[in-house]
Amino acid sequence: MFWWLPGTIPGTCLAPDREGWYLFAVLEEGADLLSENQKLTRIVILGGGFAGAYLAQSLERHAKRYNLHITLVDQRNYFIFYPLLVEAGIGSLEPRHAVVSLHQYLKKTTLLMGNVVSVDDDTREVHCQLAGTDFRKALPYDHLVVALGSVTRLPPVPGLGEYGLRLKTMADSVGLRDRAIQLLEIANHLEDPAQRAEWLNLVVVGGSFTGVEFAGEFQAFMAKAANSYPNISGSDVKIHLVEATDRILPALEPSLADYARQHMERRGVDIRLNQYVTRIAHAHAELSNGDKIPTRTVVWCAGIAPNPLLKEMPIPLNEQGYVKSRADLRVEGKDHIWSMGDCASVPSPDGTPYAPTAQNATRQARHAARNILLVLKGEEPEPCRLRALGSLASIGCRSAVASVMGVKLSGFAAWWLWRTVYLMKMPTFSRKIRVMLDWTADLFFTHDVVQLGIHQLRRAEERDKERESGVVDREGL
Ligand SMILES: Cc1cc2nc3c(=O)[nH]c(=O)nc-3n(C[C@H](O)[C@H](O)[C@H](O)COP(=O)(O)OP(=O)(O)OC[C@H]3O[C@@H](n4cnc5c(N)ncnc54)[C@H](O)[C@@H]3O)c2cc1C
Repeated sequence: MFWWLPGTIPGTCLAPDREGWYLFAVLEEGADLLSENQKLTRIVILGGGFAGAYLAQSLERHAKRYNLHITLVDQRNYFIFYPLLVEAGIGSLEPRHAVVSLHQYLKKTTLLMGNVVSVDDDTREVHCQLAGTDFRKALPYDHLVVALGSVTRLPPVPGLGEYGLRLKTMADSVGLRDRAIQLLEIANHLEDPAQRAEWLNLVVVGGSFTGVEFAGEFQAFMAKAANSYPNISGSDVKIHLVEATDRILPALEPSLADYARQHMERRGVDIRLNQYVTRIAHAHAELSNGDKIPTRTVVWCAGIAPNPLLKEMPIPLNEQGYVKSRADLRVEGKDHIWSMGDCASVPSPDGTPYAPTAQNATRQARHAARNILLVLKGEEPEPCRLRALGSLASIGCRSAVASVMGVKLSGFAAWWLWRTVYLMKMPTFSRKIRVMLDWTADLFFTHDVVQLGIHQLRRAEERDKERESGVVDREGL
């Protein structure tokens, strides 16, 4: 019995997201209000992640009718489907299948693969640099959309810049897997228990979704991979999850968070609540209670910060550095600049900003498309009101916790739901099929214990030499 047939074809298991249809209906209705000779409107979107790419696609459907010229600028020609980043790292999924090609996803948008350098709102131009070159290009705009996402927040913890690892890009994820395998290769030949612990301990900082998913999935992956090493048993691998507050997964109900904690602890994950990392050194991490965990690997998953480029832009930012967006997604004081997704602070109806999630970014994007078209018709844009649909976290060993539309689930059923939801949400039919095939193969075969060469450990002396010469590779620990 193949597991995906009843539950993974979009729309057959869960209620489909109807926003797209609603948007379509509303826009069609107003279309006849436009003059036949609608002048060309140039829309430039900065950032092709969940917010930028979904917005471009929503606008594309109306590009002809509204005479839109849409340009999207991103430093990559794909966007990362973040919910599957950890799975791509451990190898249940081919990494290329956890990203979406912008060329395939957007058919009527001009893509510019490059870095946004600056925005001149007096001349209404964005200045970009084509990726990996000195070529610059100015893009004129009538409407500008800022959807540049976020970066990992790195507080001033001594040693973090030098030794801390992040989980934000596909290279990070695959690199962490390479590293995990190399740790096993080395520990397999060490006899001193203290030395072995140094290599087989991983410290993960941050007990929210990313930290929990990473800790749960990597613990399961490494414990299984240990079977390929005669001198290591699964229980030798120890993941320490350090969380500064009194619980993990604060966005979920306490009962689900407790389930996740107990499930992970039973499998050997050491969860340290009410503690934080005060210092990271070459071979250990220090905690606020004075404990020193011997480790060569600290993965920082604690929080996000606004994209630093926002500071250079002629748009208002709040105290934390996020773009001040209004409820209708226009930037405060600018009627032709829009901002949404992780980089923006968008007020919800109760005044608090929406959480930085893919779920919110995509729905804000669709709402922004609708509002941009309303503005082009000379009408007032409407406030974006989103209801939380739910949250899911996979915690390893085919187990997850989920709270969806008031229904709470945990264990295998939640894990099944987790995969079904993200398969449905994965853009493009071909990607859905590829992911489905990868997951099916994953049910029958064990993960390969091979490195892809993304991450290489080096000896301390080599690293010191690099540092002296000014070349520092953060992952070469
Ligand atoms: C590991 C991980 C797991 C996650 N899991 C979930 C989950 O399960 N569910 C969920 O709802 N959310 C999840 N999130 C959060 C979610 O991914 C973000 O909220 C979402 O990506 C925000 O969309 P965005 O478009 O604002 O930013 P992004 O998707 O990050 O897109 C920003 C884009 O801007 C581009 N960019 C940045 N700077 C420049 C520049 N100078 N020039 C050109 N381009 C630039 C980037 O390349 C990127 O493509 C996860 C995040 C991470 C890191």
